[in-house]
Amino acid sequence: MGPFDWLPHAPLEPLHLDWLARAGIEVAVLRLDRIDPLISGNKWFKLTEHLAQAQQAGASGIISLGGAYSNHLHALAAAGKRFGFATVGLLRGHPQETPTVLDLKAFGMQLHWLGYGGYRARHEPDFWLSWREQYPHLHPVPEGGGGLSGAMGCRQLVFQAQAQLCGLGWADYHGWWLAAGTGTTLAGLVLAEAGAHPVYGALAVPQDHGVERQVREIVQGGFELLDASRGGFAQVDPVLLAFIDATEQASGLPLEPLYTAKALLALKEQVEAGRFAVGTRLIFIHTGGLQGRRGFA
Ligand SMILES: *Cc1c(COP(=O)(O)O)cnc(C)c1O
Repeated sequence: MGPFDWLPHAPLEPLHLDWLARAGIEVAVLRLDRIDPLISGNKWFKLTEHLAQAQQAGASGIISLGGAYSNHLHALAAAGKRFGFATVGLLRGHPQETPTVLDLKAFGMQLHWLGYGGYRARHEPDFWLSWREQYPHLHPVPEGGGGLSGAMGCRQLVFQAQAQLCGLGWADYHGWWLAAGTGTTLAGLVLAEAGAHPVYGALAVPQDHGVERQVREIVQGGFELLDASRGGFAQVDPVLLAFIDATEQASGLPLEPLYTAKALLALKEQVEAGRFAVGTRLIFIHTGGLQGRRGFA
């Protein structure tokens, strides 16, 4: 693998919505959905440290896992094609051709379908042994690009946003708001903030998934998690779909139903419950994922 001197730029943009104006709260969106036409969202930032480690280890590519709509595998496969390294994806379930899977193939990712039981075995200590034997030159990356390495790559988001505050006329801000799946991206923000500003994570998975514990393996405090899952991961309801439409029409901001829409809707509920004082300024992270939305059309 060659060196990566590609550091995409995430624009920070003001968000104008009536429910924010009514509450006297300002929100700016860090648009990770706009960093690149193909490589979108937080998944690139989560990958950067893993890719650096792969390079140091002299690997010729990356092997990782995910589902048939995985934003992580999509970003990884697109990066492999762009920068010329090999990618292998281990997929949950049985062969199917979602828009995401078709892209993975077009990007040149080699796919293995593990079934459901086979995929559940990913946490077992010897899971990687046979894959390491089959692909000795590939560097393994955990599901979703998680762990401390994933979080380290996301520190960059704080620096990119802070460098753009002036352009908004903001001297400072009061906190961060973003969707959390594994909480890795959130942990990266907490690392970079070192207590300077709180980070609020809107959970896309139910509270009993152990996200809090996982985040605490990386950082001690400086964050708060709230349930935004609306009945479960990937559960979609009419209120959510109407909110996506209304937001896109009012502000032009495109959202997908699994993460970003649930996170912004949870913010609306908190704002309307009076959680934040008039004059509060928040940075909302659009974590991307719009490619996965094709599956829900
Ligand atoms: C993966 C993903 C997340 C969750 O990121 P974590 O670092 O796992 O918390 C949020 N939003 C989108 C669009 C994602 O694809």
